[in-house]
Amino acid sequence: NAQLRIGIVGYGNLGRGVERSIALNPDMRLVGVFTRRDPDSVRTVDPAVPVRGVDELDAMQDEIDVLVLCGGSKSDLPEQTPQLASRFSVVDSFDTHARIPEHFAAVDAAARAAGTTAVISTGWDPGLFSLQRLYGEAILPQGETYTFWGRGLSQGHSDAIRRVPGVAAGVQYTIPSDDAVARVRAGERPELGTRDKHTRECVVVLADGADPDAVREAIVSMPDYFEPYDTTVRFVSAEELTRDHAGAPHGGFVIRSGTTSDASSQTMEFRLALESNPEFTASVLVAYARAAARLHASGDHGAKTPFDIAPGLLSPKTAEQLRAELL
Ligand code: NDP
Repeated sequence: NAQLRIGIVGYGNLGRGVERSIALNPDMRLVGVFTRRDPDSVRTVDPAVPVRGVDELDAMQDEIDVLVLCGGSKSDLPEQTPQLASRFSVVDSFDTHARIPEHFAAVDAAARAAGTTAVISTGWDPGLFSLQRLYGEAILPQGETYTFWGRGLSQGHSDAIRRVPGVAAGVQYTIPSDDAVARVRAGERPELGTRDKHTRECVVVLADGADPDAVREAIVSMPDYFEPYDTTVRFVSAEELTRDHAGAPHGGFVIRSGTTSDASSQTMEFRLALESNPEFTASVLVAYARAAARLHASGDHGAKTPFDIAPGLLSPKTAEQLRAELL
């Protein structure tokens, strides 16, 4: 079987994680990294990986099976995913939940017109957590689903604060409420508002001359990302940020608490504990790249989300092997 030929578009944390993940999957080969920056300025994990400008993709349609898109959700992917889906099968991790329907529509139109397959919004949330929410609802129709994140550094939200004018650097931590988690696990099925479940803490380095009050206001009022939460903004020096906030841990859990009769309450819980959020997210994207290639080969084109993809397509094993080994 020929190896799957993968290209990485955008080389930040996620891009690096995808490079590492492809090295762990023998059925795949990395054709190269494609960046909007000067390719000579980009240092890959393996220096032998070719780095090219995104404009060079035009000439490479016959050399790449799937592009893994590693741009940010706030402003890169809404442009890049539809554009690239009109020439390549692609996978992205678009994570602005409120905008997924419009992103899907734009990508679907491009992919259908071009006969490509585009998997959007995979990763862990959206992604694996979305699947758990779906399983919980479908299996326990009488119940409540709870998603808790953290304590962890959110790539999507950190990306969003870094694009606020006046922000030189910054990270964002999501913190679940211990009390809320305990009540859910105890089967209480409490009614919890967005603000009861988590708080958000932003650790920010100001750009020279920036007004802290204006920056704080721009962050806490940002729709979808921060406005629905109690958000605190803490300003630190560049040195402190590098020293104390360099890692990217994350995780969380999805809990479905339901009943199947008066006598029986049932709990489904799915947990992730991640030392590196981008490396884990990248690993999910790479598994979905395999599914995208298979769907494309079978003539199943257009935009897809994790809900549309059969689990067996993620595995390098054949359906026969999976039935014998994992069922
Ligand atoms: P980064 O900010 O590290 O990278 C985003 C883009 O910025 C890159 O593709 C790159 O594009 C550009 N870039 C990276 N480094 C530099 C630099 N030094 N100077 C200038 N530009 C740079 O974001 P992440 O990789 O951490 O995350 C990407 C997205 O992944 C997030 O926005 C989030 O939406 C998503 N995500 C989704 C998850 C999920 O579960 N669904 C979980 C985690 C993340 P280029 O090379 O073209 O310049």
